[in-house]
Amino acid sequence: MSGKSLKPASVTAHAAGAHGAGGAVVPGVNVSTTYRRDASYELMAPGTYGRDHNDTVTAAEEVLRQLEGAAATRLFPSGMAAAAAVFRTLPAGARVVLQSGIYYGVTSFARNFCVRRGITLDEVDAADPALIAAALGTPADLVWIEVPSNPWMKLADIAAVARLAHGAGALLAVDGTAATPVLTRVLELGADISMHSATKAINGHTDVLAGVLSCRDADSAAWAAICADRVEAGAIIGPFEAWLLMRGMRTLPLRLERMCANAQRLAEWLAAHDAVEAVWYPGLPGHPGHDLAVRQMQGGAGYLMSVLVRGGAAEALAAVGRLQLIERATSLGGIETLVEHRATIEPQSGIPENLLRLSVGIEDADDLIADLDQALAG
Ligand code: PLP
Repeated sequence: MSGKSLKPASVTAHAAGAHGAGGAVVPGVNVSTTYRRDASYELMAPGTYGRDHNDTVTAAEEVLRQLEGAAATRLFPSGMAAAAAVFRTLPAGARVVLQSGIYYGVTSFARNFCVRRGITLDEVDAADPALIAAALGTPADLVWIEVPSNPWMKLADIAAVARLAHGAGALLAVDGTAATPVLTRVLELGADISMHSATKAINGHTDVLAGVLSCRDADSAAWAAICADRVEAGAIIGPFEAWLLMRGMRTLPLRLERMCANAQRLAEWLAAHDAVEAVWYPGLPGHPGHDLAVRQMQGGAGYLMSVLVRGGAAEALAAVGRLQLIERATSLGGIETLVEHRATIEPQSGIPENLLRLSVGIEDADDLIADLDQALAG
């Protein structure tokens, strides 16, 4: 069967049809950094060198390409390397419209990069239709949004932003890390570039750094520039990481099913808890982006939420300190539930001092609730 007709769980379980040499069911790791030429000096492999070609990387890219419904996909050694590759395609003097309140690493990179390159950077709340429409009333080159946004958990309407971006002459790039291509296929909603930190749920086992870009139009100038930049600037993921990623992805839809179900249950339970002021999770009917989540996310509202503990930083940190099963660590999307006090990481960013970001894993939901219950009880 062709990849196009297969559902995500079948694509990933079979690693998009990748096999190893000699009848092996599972592909091996191709570690060679260079490729031979035959006696007539013809290349014996699709590439010349490890910076432009590696079979293991290509096989992992094919899984993601099929999941995204993309024309082409490229892996990078981290999510930030993937994001940087998009920004590096911009000419000096360009204009970027960046969603405000997104992953601070992207914001910080974009701010520094745009200053150095003489690029105008306008930060706007892309989840507010009037604000994004106003920002795109003037021409732009790139619009960058993150859906859902981390840790504010806002949802921009990807199809609407794509129309506005294209009207302004800009490409739309969407960071869908907190959704993954299993929950939201951003290219089908009109985005030009899909970006994910594959370090998160795509790999899912908290043991690989990786990033990925996919495109709707493989013949576009922007995609050609991204691909050339990856080879020339050398932002290449190693074959071992690509192989681990492919193994992690075999269970991606299965993991997400459990993570989303756990997250929904935890969000509902936390929202009803006396020690909790608010829960920001798009799966809750009271969330401002709930209707959009129902339309834009298939199979669940994701694994990420922000929990505002009643009180301030002291109360939030005290609760976190009492957790016994849930790990206190940065990052998200792994099989283990992690909690982070974001204001400690991003002081002066306006993130509430009582906000705890929870990345929900695949544990038994009863155990997670029991841990949170004893931690919130004090
Ligand atoms: N985008 C989002 C939404 C993230 O949460 C992160 C990392 O936390 C990144 C991008 C950067 O990815 P990486 O850490 O793989 O470079």
